[in-house]
Amino acid sequence: MIKANDPSLKSWIEVDANSDFPIQNLPFGIFKTKQGAARVGSRIGDKVIDLNALYVLGYFKNLPFAQADFQTDALNPLMKKGKSATTELRNRLSKLFNKENTDLSNNAHHVDQVLHDVDKVEMLMPVQVGDYTDFYSSEGHATNVGTLFRDPANALLPNWKWIPVGYHGRASSIIPSEQAIKRPKGQQKPNEDQDPVFGPCKLLDFELEMAFITYDGKPLGESISTDEAKDYIFGMCIMNDWSARDIQKWEYVPLGPFLAKSFASSISPWIVTMDALEPFKTKGPVQDPKVLPYLEYKEDAHYDINLEVGIIPEKSEETIVCKSNYKYMYWNMSQQLAHHTVNGCNIRCGDMMASGTISGEEKSSFGSMLELSWRGTQPLKMKDGSERKFIQDHDTVVMRGHCNANGVRIGFGEVSTKVLPAD
Ligand code: CA
Repeated sequence: MIKANDPSLKSWIEVDANSDFPIQNLPFGIFKTKQGAARVGSRIGDKVIDLNALYVLGYFKNLPFAQADFQTDALNPLMKKGKSATTELRNRLSKLFNKENTDLSNNAHHVDQVLHDVDKVEMLMPVQVGDYTDFYSSEGHATNVGTLFRDPANALLPNWKWIPVGYHGRASSIIPSEQAIKRPKGQQKPNEDQDPVFGPCKLLDFELEMAFITYDGKPLGESISTDEAKDYIFGMCIMNDWSARDIQKWEYVPLGPFLAKSFASSISPWIVTMDALEPFKTKGPVQDPKVLPYLEYKEDAHYDINLEVGIIPEKSEETIVCKSNYKYMYWNMSQQLAHHTVNGCNIRCGDMMASGTISGEEKSSFGSMLELSWRGTQPLKMKDGSERKFIQDHDTVVMRGHCNANGVRIGFGEVSTKVLPAD
């Protein structure tokens, strides 16, 4: 077991029982305070830990990092150092904040420089994303979409259980939680027998997804096997992969999603490491037909992560519209990465790969409004009495995720995004 995951560990920083951030989590992110510049942080309870300050004060001796790895506006330099380095860094944080260790806790002057209240900092985009790939790996979602748009009897296309289907998305419009988005504009074709029209999207949707972030991969021309995949994945966040359904429907044949997806994808700001998620591994579904050899995997590679989505109408209270779980994925991350690189495609430090919308079998676990409202035919009731088929202007969409095992809860916090009207 990774020492920093020991369920018996306690921190000298107070942590609420329902917090996503006990000492067993120790995620990484980028933050800034009112006065200071962007830098690398971690988190315990409601305190953000300044890793640049810890470095300057000498608490990272004998670790393979330089100050430039912490005094920076992205986690990329830190991830560049590779998996064993980031594992050591998390282990050092675990030691420093352990209740039994007084090296830092006894030095009030240092503690003042290192800890910030979470409500006094701004969380920024954690990673400079090079390439963004979006998979389509939830059987529930692919079945629902196939049923709605094609043929209920043949909802999954013939390749779906052979290939972790995906497409290359847009990295420049990946944004952190709390950054509002504008309703996108584009071409739509609401009437089959009339010409297309241009205007604000009318069918704006969220997609509940998880995304993983990679270390440097192998050189162009080489592949990463399912066994090797874990050494190339740094951590995960929650992603709301915004979608304009009306724009999508008109543009996606023959080359797939384009402007319907590229206007924004929102992510939660804390990257939870694969080390921290290790205790929450679980078995995946039986894959039938048997997958091709390069997609076979040995160890459990799915993760039990509870997910939920809420909608907060303007000046109103939140209604939870979806409760799902990341374990509903058909294809796991090891298979996705093995497939992505099997043709020799190189992945780079800071690439982001998303799961695709996560939907379970129950209606309450569907991960998009398209499915929840069944293409607008079954509107959802909000607590304030209003109804939603899709997302309206001034709505805020919130996604959260957490794991529970052995008396330890760790989580991702949330990704929260308000939708503003089109210009
Ligand atoms: Ca998506």
